[in-house]
Amino acid sequence: MSTNKPDNDKLYDIIIIGAGVVGPCIARCMARQGRKVLIAEREWSCPNRIVGELMQPSGLKALKQLGMIKAINNIEANEVDGYYIEFNGKEVSIDYPSKNVESALDTTPVPKAIQKGDEDKVGTDSTIDAKKWEECPHVKGASFRHGQFLTNLRNLCLSEPNVTKLDGSVTGVIKNDKDCVCGITVANQGSFKGRLVINCDGIYSKFRKELDEDFVPKVGSYFIGLELKDAKLPKPHFGHVLLGEHAPVLIYQMDPHSSRMLCAYRSKTLPKRSEVLNYLRTRVLPQLPKCVKPSFEEALNQKGQDIYRAMPNQYLPARLNDVPGFVCIGDSLNMRHPLTGGGMTVGLNDAVMFCKMLSDLSNEQLGHEEIVLERLIDFHTERKHLDAVINALSLALYTLFAADNKYLQILQRGVFAYFLRGGVYVGQPIGLLSGLIPSIWVLFSNFFAVAFYACRLNFAARGIVGFPLALYENIVVLFTAAHVFLPILFGEIFT
Ligand SMILES: Cc1cc2nc3c(=O)[nH]c(=O)nc-3n(C[C@H](O)[C@H](O)[C@H](O)COP(=O)(O)OP(=O)(O)OC[C@H]3O[C@@H](n4cnc5c(N)ncnc54)[C@H](O)[C@@H]3O)c2cc1C
Repeated sequence: MSTNKPDNDKLYDIIIIGAGVVGPCIARCMARQGRKVLIAEREWSCPNRIVGELMQPSGLKALKQLGMIKAINNIEANEVDGYYIEFNGKEVSIDYPSKNVESALDTTPVPKAIQKGDEDKVGTDSTIDAKKWEECPHVKGASFRHGQFLTNLRNLCLSEPNVTKLDGSVTGVIKNDKDCVCGITVANQGSFKGRLVINCDGIYSKFRKELDEDFVPKVGSYFIGLELKDAKLPKPHFGHVLLGEHAPVLIYQMDPHSSRMLCAYRSKTLPKRSEVLNYLRTRVLPQLPKCVKPSFEEALNQKGQDIYRAMPNQYLPARLNDVPGFVCIGDSLNMRHPLTGGGMTVGLNDAVMFCKMLSDLSNEQLGHEEIVLERLIDFHTERKHLDAVINALSLALYTLFAADNKYLQILQRGVFAYFLRGGVYVGQPIGLLSGLIPSIWVLFSNFFAVAFYACRLNFAARGIVGFPLALYENIVVLFTAAHVFLPILFGEIFT
């Protein structure tokens, strides 16, 4: 472990605010590229959160490129092979794409991130069999306890001699007389100077407003998180999406004895405890698969206040990092609905792209605002390929899966029926969701293919007599689909 002490008089090449998922990855990578890095975190002990527990294959790809894939080892992580979706008693399983899909992408490591003698592959441990992982024809994701994964990332970062750990809450950024950010202030520890300050302070970011006062996320709904003990899941090693009259429910295993259940809740403000418990008992419980019910009831009946935790699901399209000396990455820059588990994937792929784009700059050049801004403009444009797909998909799927009107319900039935067709009809959607098909066009064409398929099914269901009604409904359905999807997509592309 690095034993460097934070030095108020030193000029660091990089200062990072926040050691969540993204901060330690950038810190380690930059340190390996020869930068002196100071990483400030207000809470270094293992966190217990209900976020960031399922990593999509593209997130694992990014971890590999950062030389940090070993962070999923020795935490009893669960291999994830795809998604299992249940809707009104019918089910469909969708495997993650074949490895060929991943090999069409740039998988080259970040320069200097992987060094001679590094073991940069998934290893065998108590829950992962490296040989089976390697031989599996399709890519995999992983689910785990967030805190343990984070501890691994942090330890990898702090083992770098160029990294200095700072234990404290960052209270402000310092600007020089040219209005360029040149350091941070930390509670009870004074100020620290750096050529470039990288802000990774996460979902409740205090410092994203440095980019713009109006750069604030919107809360769309809440996730209610419960922990299920020894739950029997319909399809182990798959992420479960349960649809019905309730808003969507997600379940995935975190370790051999615990599974996370995230129940979406349609509310823009923190719901009252009595309302949540009533909703879980009367709306969610009756519709769960039979095998899940005992562990869910057990979780609901436990004594005390800790039955569930609620987190807001926020949306924030990214904006250009154009403040000299300052960069936001991770949730401080960009958020989407967590239904599709894409947050870490976007953040880690951004870390890869950012570290690659800056890798040829000397330490002195990191403090040169015009040079860095040029790279940040490229970063803003390039990252849209992945982030627009993951973000628009997450919001569109949430809106359809939480359908609360007749036309969205026609679309919801259409999505599920489309998936039931299997083959190519699920290949591209799961490629988009796993982050391995970063193509806005593929997303666009699949979304409208689903919408037209939903209309076709509606015509068939209404029959000849109901044709005029179906025609009217289908026009509204297509309008609804466009209304749900296009503003998000255009917002992502043009911000
Ligand atoms: C309910 C929910 C479920 C989710 N599930 C998933 C999932 O399954 N898969 C997935 O990929 N994504 C998921 N996400 C998103 C994912 O958690 C985030 O995208 C990811 O954690 C972002 O990483 P980050 O490093 O930007 O921020 P964080 O991981 O939140 O880290 C921010 C860090 O900054 C520190 N910090 C903040 N302010 C200060 C300060 N002033 N001084 C010092 N330190 C500070 C914090 O203590 C924290 O350690 C979920 C999100 C939600 C809301």
